[in-house]
Amino acid sequence: MSEGAAKRLADIKSEIARVEKDYMRKTGPVTLIAVSKTFDAPEIRPVLEAGQRVFGENKVQEARGKWPELKADYPGVELHLIGPLQSNKSKEAVETFDVIHSVDREKIARTLKVEMDKQGKNPKLFIQVNTGEEPQKAGIMPKDADAFIALCRDELGLSIEGLMCIPPVDEAPGMHFALLEKIARRNGLSQLSMGMSADFPIAVQHGATHVRVGSAIFGERDYS
Ligand SMILES: *Cc1c(COP(=O)(O)O)cnc(C)c1O
Repeated sequence: MSEGAAKRLADIKSEIARVEKDYMRKTGPVTLIAVSKTFDAPEIRPVLEAGQRVFGENKVQEARGKWPELKADYPGVELHLIGPLQSNKSKEAVETFDVIHSVDREKIARTLKVEMDKQGKNPKLFIQVNTGEEPQKAGIMPKDADAFIALCRDELGLSIEGLMCIPPVDEAPGMHFALLEKIARRNGLSQLSMGMSADFPIAVQHGATHVRVGSAIFGERDYS
């Protein structure tokens, strides 16, 4: 299984490179985020051994449990928080992560700002947009995105790197990626976190700068 993960990682990298080339992208190389949520250190180590250093987790607590030890063994790890953030976890999120993809409301933006100032730490921030306007899903609504980006930048003084989305499972993802790209462009944001195991090639076609790939590298997740 461990060699399997390294092999799958290599396959995904060449698939990304192929799509980048086919579409003659001008946005520069795509960052592959290996999403290791629900997997433990023994399953993550082979992927680190294969040279991967950028990882995504969707829970603050889970990341704090397994990553300190792995980070000590493999220098240069960059950790991305890709799951929804509660404001009472802002302190730990700023301590733990290099990049946060799920800024989606004023309260979170404010508590992150306070913690970043307090800790003197500046994780890169992405704003999550709920492109499918799904009630159960995190993210700012598309119609509120411009105002929220402005609030984060102008009022709170946060530097925003880009936008993130998770398209509805039952819809073609392309129009969601295109919408995210459009909102980013009109707001002068260059980074796009979009695309998962099932649709990362389509996301790369649409200009993704970061793809978040879990099961295609680590295998199916077991939530039990
Ligand atoms: C779990 C998760 C992923 C990875 O999903 P896969 O389908 O396993 O690639 C990507 N993004 C977010 C926000 C996730 O929670």
